[in-house]
Amino acid sequence: MGTDTKSYQIGVIRGDGIGPEIIAEALKVLDKAAKIYGFTLQYTELCLGGSSIDRYGVPLTEETIEKAKQCDAVLMGSIGGDPKTSPWYQLEPSKRPEAGLLGIRKALGLFANLRFSKLYDDLMDSCPLKESIAREGIDFVILRELTGGLYFGAHKTWTKDGEDMASDELLYSDHEIRRIAVKAFDAAMLRGKKMTLVDKANVLDSSRLWRKVVQDVAKDYPEVEVDYMYVDNASMQLVRRPSQFDVVLTENMFGDILSDEASMVTGSIGMQPSASLAEGSFGLYEPSHGSAPDIAGKDLANPLATILSAAMMLRYSLGQEEAALAIEKAVEEVLKTYRTADLVSDRDDVEQVGCSKMGTLVADALG
Ligand code: NAD
Repeated sequence: MGTDTKSYQIGVIRGDGIGPEIIAEALKVLDKAAKIYGFTLQYTELCLGGSSIDRYGVPLTEETIEKAKQCDAVLMGSIGGDPKTSPWYQLEPSKRPEAGLLGIRKALGLFANLRFSKLYDDLMDSCPLKESIAREGIDFVILRELTGGLYFGAHKTWTKDGEDMASDELLYSDHEIRRIAVKAFDAAMLRGKKMTLVDKANVLDSSRLWRKVVQDVAKDYPEVEVDYMYVDNASMQLVRRPSQFDVVLTENMFGDILSDEASMVTGSIGMQPSASLAEGSFGLYEPSHGSAPDIAGKDLANPLATILSAAMMLRYSLGQEEAALAIEKAVEEVLKTYRTADLVSDRDDVEQVGCSKMGTLVADALG
């Protein structure tokens, strides 16, 4: 008998520290979602970071890259150890765990980084903003260009007339802007259909090119409302009225700064999923936080950022929107009653649970 069940190959990087614990919970939830929504997930284990150093002597191997390329998407826990005590940090920088992460991003052509900031109603008390602002709702994503701009332009230091000088080049091509603009508009179509380009077009030629290309791409997305905002204003608006944002698109350095600011407005490091996308539908999905070596192996980690990253993977790489939505709803439901230690509040109507129980609760809430 024929079957049209869709099957996907998922690369799984369990990583270091709390990585294996949070990934186990995300897989628990993914397996349940696959069963309910009628698709199949097959997992390819990939080794990266500290665990790869222990096993192969290097943080990233060719084998990992080749296997990752065969997958539809990659789900990653976090990598790295405690820089003060871990022997991985006795190695030269190019051999440390983080070099593996930079290496795999490059090898897989991941040029767009998405960081999602959402404040759940039941976590209102963890938001550092005034309640009147938080209650307007916070739910936006920042798309940061990852492989161009100031960080990748020519860096020069020289001396002129006895004085030290330095310069850094901010370079973008039409192609680099266009491919991430398409990702941003696609993301807006899956969300609130609003896109804000953040730039400094009153001063920078590169920003003016961003505007021109974005205006051009916008013609293919007539349903999306487009807004343009200078970066200095955007950094203020993110804390003044974050409810106005849906999809924020920006270049590398502005995105670096704004996405850290954005991670604070929801107040909780264990809740923020992220994605790095390549051309086509391939992406690498991971929580925004690190490997938290201080709580590793203690069943204390919050697995929700990883579970929500898995939901993003279903949405952006696998096109399983219904299953993604169901996971997000399940997380919202569970947070009404249960919290991991990092989210504990003064409320006496919530129960503290460990990492493993939290994963089970979300999987159970799915159906
Ligand atoms: P971190 O995010 O790991 O931890 C900061 C604090 O937040 C710690 O107190 C930790 O216990 C807590 N925390 C983090 N995630 C949590 C979770 N899911 N649940 C509960 N509490 C959580 O940052 P750090 O301590 O600066 O870095 C530790 C290691 O992680 C370093 O080796 C660093 O290089 C690495 N790192 C990796 C990534 C990545 O894999 N993408 C990102 C950032 C840091």
